[in-house]
Amino acid sequence: MNILLASSEVFPFSKTGGLADMVAALAKALARQGGNRVGIVTPLYKGTRNRFQGMARMVADWTVELGGERLTASVWRMPLEKGLHVYFVDQPDFFHREGLYTVPGQGDHPDNDRRFVFFSRAVVELIHFLPYETDVLHLHDWQVGLVAAMIARHRAMGVGPAPATCLTIHNLAYQGVFPRSSFELTGLPETFFVPEGLEFYQQMNCLKAGIMFSDQLTTVSPTYAEEILTPEFGCGLEGALHYRRHLLTGILNGVDYEEWNTEKNPSISHAFNQHDLGGKALQKRDLQREIGLPLREDLPLFASITRLAGQKGMDELYPALRAMLHTEDFQFVLLGSGSPETEEKYRQLARDFPDKVATVIGYRHALSHRIEAGADFFLMPSLYEPCGLNQMYSLRYGTIPIVRATGGLQDSITDFSEDPGHADGIKFDAMETSEMQEAIRKALAIFQDPDLLLHYRQNGMQKDFSWESTSRQYLDVFRKALSSREI
Ligand code: ADP
Repeated sequence: MNILLASSEVFPFSKTGGLADMVAALAKALARQGGNRVGIVTPLYKGTRNRFQGMARMVADWTVELGGERLTASVWRMPLEKGLHVYFVDQPDFFHREGLYTVPGQGDHPDNDRRFVFFSRAVVELIHFLPYETDVLHLHDWQVGLVAAMIARHRAMGVGPAPATCLTIHNLAYQGVFPRSSFELTGLPETFFVPEGLEFYQQMNCLKAGIMFSDQLTTVSPTYAEEILTPEFGCGLEGALHYRRHLLTGILNGVDYEEWNTEKNPSISHAFNQHDLGGKALQKRDLQREIGLPLREDLPLFASITRLAGQKGMDELYPALRAMLHTEDFQFVLLGSGSPETEEKYRQLARDFPDKVATVIGYRHALSHRIEAGADFFLMPSLYEPCGLNQMYSLRYGTIPIVRATGGLQDSITDFSEDPGHADGIKFDAMETSEMQEAIRKALAIFQDPDLLLHYRQNGMQKDFSWESTSRQYLDVFRKALSSREI
């Protein structure tokens, strides 16, 4: 099958969250299943060409229409491995700037409508330049939701390439909603701007375009696939999703164990595995030194690595942690950035408990590996979590996840109450201080019991979320998309 994935971020070229990891890992896994030719199309952001060798210009003097204007652009092509290429859409005015979606420290780029309508059009046009016919276009999130509508338009007109389309929803809360006037940029006829199309309360909704016009829909965990059909999690799109639910499949993301492993990893100094955890103890000591906490192997070290966005529950965790830091002996490290208020709260926590709390504000990839490796417990108190990757990385790194039972956290972690023999994490239900404290108390008790601690760690380290089997589930969905397109 010839598959083109379209995404606004792809690891290691660009990343703000799990989307980047998922797209890169899935593309690799698909390419490794013999018989597939796989491409990824993504914007060329500032600095990427300097950081990576091996890009060659594939399309020059290209013009892409946007709202009646013709904008010049080009495409760079880079082989990643056998059967896998990345295509970078180069439009410096739109993409050579700081921040993928936002001006750092401020809000969204004011022209995100133009940037991503342009990118969506570029994705559709790129198909003409590929050396093979694209069977399936795999779209990721709102930034390319309009592509599905554009392809539907091609099909209706009987012109241009019309691959089958599949949209994967990574986070329903981000929809790309723009004023009606932005719709003019798309080149689509008015018949698309209806409630059964991409209209959303008189505005243009890019994610809704993807939901209404793709041949198949997936989201990144089975539980989230059910949750998003409810008003609580549906973010206003539960009606549209209900209408299209026969096309929706929840597929839990996998983990790229070539990147996220404890044995051959340039970011960590001491290798370890489920049979020999000696290296993990050394990682903990090194981490405590690096983040300026006392070198205490007898104290449990809790960690969070996260975007500081409301979804992640760090504001709710804060009072629970603060109260417990007064009475219990443990350490906590946060690596994250986002809401300035939340950043400041956690900075203050580190000032108030300098021997117990370290707060690192920023985005630090290598440090995120060392935190996963050196910590004992990983806190993910998300209000909702479509999939979540860090809890799966934690499992492989022998770091016990403490999670709210929602979305992919519910699907990937086993609590003692569910299956004592396979317990690998601690789950709680309500976003309440008392429940979070109860979960942390359970962790403190596990830490005091070396056999139990090892039991949890080994269960987690054995769990296998590799992409090999997960990518087959995507191929099944792609086949469905192909056959429904033919009807
Ligand atoms: P989301 O995509 O909602 O942000 P995920 O758990 O799916 O959440 O993925 C988050 C990814 O981003 C993980 O790979 C995590 O390690 C990484 N990450 C988040 N914040 C930071 C940070 N401040 N520094 C380094 N990596 C981070």
